Amino acid sequence: MSDEIEQTIRKYALQNAVFFKGTANPKAVVGKILGSCPELRSKAGEITPLINQIVEEVNKMGLEAQTKALEEMDSSLLVKEKKERKYELPDLKNVNGKVVMRIAPGPSGPLHIGHTRVSILNDEYVKRYGGDLVLRFEDTNPEKIDPDAYDMIPEDLDWLGVKCNKQYIQSDRFEMYYDYTRKLLEMGHAYVCTCNGDDWRALKEKKQKCPCHDLPVETQLDRYDKFLAGDYADGEAVVVVKTDIAHPNPAVRDFVALRLVRTPHPRTGEKYIAYPMMNLSVAIDDHEMGMTHVIRGKDHLNNTFRQEYIFDYFGWKKPEYYHYGLVNIPDTVLKTSIIKQSIRDGEYTGWDDVRTGTVRAMKRRGIRPEAIRRYWVESGIKSVDIEFSWQNLYGMNRDVIDTDANRFFYVQDPVKFDIDGIDKIEGEAPKHPDHPERGSRVYSISAPRTVYLSDADYKMFQDEKQIRLKDLCNLEFGTPAKYNGNDVSILKKGVRAVQWVAADGLDATLLMPDGSVLKGLVEPDIAKETNDMVQLERIGFARIEKKDAKSVSMIFAHR
Ligand code: GLU
Repeated sequence: MSDEIEQTIRKYALQNAVFFKGTANPKAVVGKILGSCPELRSKAGEITPLINQIVEEVNKMGLEAQTKALEEMDSSLLVKEKKERKYELPDLKNVNGKVVMRIAPGPSGPLHIGHTRVSILNDEYVKRYGGDLVLRFEDTNPEKIDPDAYDMIPEDLDWLGVKCNKQYIQSDRFEMYYDYTRKLLEMGHAYVCTCNGDDWRALKEKKQKCPCHDLPVETQLDRYDKFLAGDYADGEAVVVVKTDIAHPNPAVRDFVALRLVRTPHPRTGEKYIAYPMMNLSVAIDDHEMGMTHVIRGKDHLNNTFRQEYIFDYFGWKKPEYYHYGLVNIPDTVLKTSIIKQSIRDGEYTGWDDVRTGTVRAMKRRGIRPEAIRRYWVESGIKSVDIEFSWQNLYGMNRDVIDTDANRFFYVQDPVKFDIDGIDKIEGEAPKHPDHPERGSRVYSISAPRTVYLSDADYKMFQDEKQIRLKDLCNLEFGTPAKYNGNDVSILKKGVRAVQWVAADGLDATLLMPDGSVLKGLVEPDIAKETNDMVQLERIGFARIEKKDAKSVSMIFAHR
C-alpha cells in the first residue's frame, strides 16, 4: 500500500476524530474515504484493515494532538463542510414568456406568517420567469376591513422582499362586477334569488332548483335593477351563478355571486350596497388582469371549480391553477379578529405583539425574511398538508443571523458578590468565536471586584462550592468569594463555567415569546453594537429593540 494512501487514510481518520471529541469511528472513516476517493473502491477489501489500524492509532493520540496533526496535514479539513441542500420550486406548467400572478389578501389586518407562503411562492415564480406580480386588495366584505391594512400589507410585503409591481383595490371595481353580472343574467347563467336562504340550500342538497332559477331573463334583469337600486333589504335577495344543480360535489352547485350589505364601506361609504362574493370578483379580476398562473391553498379548491364556470360562460382562457396543501401553524395567535380585539382591550401592545404570528411580530423578534423565504421554498407547492415547525424556521433563521450576531453574557435575576484573593482580574472573550478579526470583549476588574451571577448559577455555586467565570477565572465559594486561579482544566473535574457580568453591566430586559419580561444585566459592550441581533450566551439569540448608555431592551428570538 502506498504512502499516499496511508496519508489519505490518516487525514480522514484525524478529521473524524477531531469532529467527534477525539474518537474516530472506523466505519465512518471507511465511508468517507471510499466516497472521496472512488479509485480506492476496488481495493476496499485491502484497505479496510489498514483503516482500522490507523484509526486505532489516531484514537490513542488525544484531541489536542489530533487537531495539531490534522492542522499540519490539511488545515482545510478542520472546518466542517456545510451540507447544502438546494431546494428549488418545480417549474410552472405552460409558461409562454412572462407570467402574471397575484397576491390577493383581504385587508382585515396586516399579514401573518400563514400569508407569507402564498406571497413568497408567487414572488419566487415571478422572479424566475419575469412578468407581473399583482397585489390585489380583496375588500368586498365591508364588515371585515381594517382601513390601516391598505398600508400595512404593502409594508409587510416590502419587508418580506416580495415585489409587487401592480396594485388594485376591488372596491374601485364594483361597476365592472355589476356589468359582468348583468351579462351572466342576460346569457341565462345567473338568477336573482329571493328565496329564503335555508330553503334554497335545502333544495340544492336535494339537487333541486329553486323557483327563481328558471324565471325568464326579463324578470331576472328587472329584479337585478331593483337589486342594485336598493329595493330589497339585506338578505332578501342575492344574485346566484348557475352551475350544475346535480353536481356530485354539493359545494359546486349554484353559488352566490352578489349580496346586499348596508354596512358602510371604509373606502366607498354607502355608495354601493351590492357586494360581490369572492368567486365573482376573483374570477372577473383574474381574467381582467390576465393571470397566467394562480397559486392558492387547497382550501380554495371548490372556489376554483366555481370560478371555472364563470370562465367557461364567458369563453375566457383559464389560468393554470395550483393548490398547495394546508398548513397548521401551532402555538401562536393568527386570527386577525382576535388580535384586533386584544389590542383594543389593551392585552396586546399592537400588531407586532410577540405573542402573535404577524409578520410584524416576526420582524420584531429578529426572524429574518430570508429564513421565512427559505422555509416556504423548501415546503414547495405540493398538495400534501403540512404542520408548520417553528423549530425548523428558527434553525433557518440561525443560519441567517449567526455570523453577524456577536456574543454577550447576560445574567437573569442577578445576584451580586465580591471576589477576594487577587488585586485585579483580567480576561477577554471573542465577540464571535468564528470571527476573531472582530476583536474581543476585554475585562479588567479591580477592587472591590464585584460581579453578578444569575440567581440560578449563584445557587449552584453555593451548592457546589466551585465555579468558573467563563473567560475570566475560577472561584471558590465564600463571602466574599475567593479567587482560585485561571486554569481552564478545572472544567475537566466537573466544575461548571457560567456567564457573569461585572459592576459596569447594563440593566437589561428580555421580552419572551409568551409576553413575559425577564430582567437581568448584560455586558456593557452591547451598547456599542451596530447590529441589532446578538447572541446571549447560553440563552439564545435576541434582538436589541432599544438601548442607551445605561440600559437595553431586547426581544428573545430563539435558541
Ligand atoms: N382573498 C382570497 C384569500 O386571501 C383570495 C384567494 C384566491 O383567490 O386565491 O384567501
